[in-house]
Amino acid sequence: MDLFEASLSARLMATKEKGLYRRLRTAHENEEIQVFSSNNYLGLAQDERVKRAAIRAIEAYGTGSGGSRLTTGNLSLHERLESTIAAWKQKASAIVFSSGFLANLGTISTLMGPGDTIFSDALNHASIIDGCRMSKAQTIVYRHTDMRDLEEKLRSAPATGKKLIVTDGVFSMDGNIAPLPQIVELAETYGAWVMVDDAHAAGVLGKTGAGTAEYFGLSGRVHLAMGTLSKSIGAEGGYVAASEPVVEYLRNYARTFIFQTSLSPGVIGAALEAIEMIRTEPERRQRLLDNAAYMRAGLKEMGFTLVEGSTPILAVVIGAAERAVAFSRHLEERGVFAPAIRPPTVPEGSSRIRVTLTAVHTRTQIDRALAAFAAAGKELGVGALKF
Ligand code: PMP
Repeated sequence: MDLFEASLSARLMATKEKGLYRRLRTAHENEEIQVFSSNNYLGLAQDERVKRAAIRAIEAYGTGSGGSRLTTGNLSLHERLESTIAAWKQKASAIVFSSGFLANLGTISTLMGPGDTIFSDALNHASIIDGCRMSKAQTIVYRHTDMRDLEEKLRSAPATGKKLIVTDGVFSMDGNIAPLPQIVELAETYGAWVMVDDAHAAGVLGKTGAGTAEYFGLSGRVHLAMGTLSKSIGAEGGYVAASEPVVEYLRNYARTFIFQTSLSPGVIGAALEAIEMIRTEPERRQRLLDNAAYMRAGLKEMGFTLVEGSTPILAVVIGAAERAVAFSRHLEERGVFAPAIRPPTVPEGSSRIRVTLTAVHTRTQIDRALAAFAAAGKELGVGALKF
């Protein structure tokens, strides 16, 4: 091992000692294990109709696009996907990126710059945080969903430059919904724009599954509706729906759009079919929300501490990182895969088991998961008032 590797190993060793080492898993390929932490909320990534749509697109257009959108990689499929997303999000236009991460990086760093101010919720996703850093705008982090703190920060911000409030619609690790009605009010009072990251809300919230803004009836007051195709939609890729000038600007200046090979045809075929199913078949969404409510009630009844929320993301707070890892291991021994989420993803002392429900979980599977939580809780002395 040379000096370079030795320094990497030393850091890895320290991470292991703190119980924060990360390992790759293939749990979903093990038939004896039921996954309770997927973002494939509606089960569409394995849906026969969606798979067939992907195959049809591959047969028609091939497996790769072969270039970036502005060179040789622009297919009518990309444009159809963008107009579908714009209509769904009730916006004039939309732009797709190769991932949600790149959508956030490209959008925030391109629209905001030195002299501008970004107001960012403390629990926003890493891709928002990195987008803010890349923008070189002043970024002011407000306490999680704390509207008083946000207002104070808006009031004392510089009077010049553009202002943007950015928030997850549904927080990825806590599962709560951003207080969007208050956010848009404050934005309008203080002359800021609003950007919502609906990675975990699209397909889940709203009458047509369009997400947080639709859920609150605020689509017209959110300027930048960002989301990903990788979760409920069951494919991959990210998007931003906005006004025509904003999208045109991003097409011209967002480096994560300009310099990246465009989405591959199979992914777009799948996404188009999935969005159509989400818009027209609300029963999947209802089943998902019913499953989540059932699991949430069951865990609460057993005395576990959950972050309050009403989405398919259930954060079962355990505390210390090592304890959360041990809890997750106990669950896995009982055939339930729900990983421990530890710092730096969540704050110190709030390590948790992130449970997510899907529309394709059966009641029998959920009951089995509840029994696994009961047994693990008993063994480790967590929660568990009633068994
Ligand atoms: N935003 C949020 C809130 C997310 O949870 C994620 C994915 N973990 C992303 C953005 C990034 O999306 P993608 O996985 O499509 O890159």
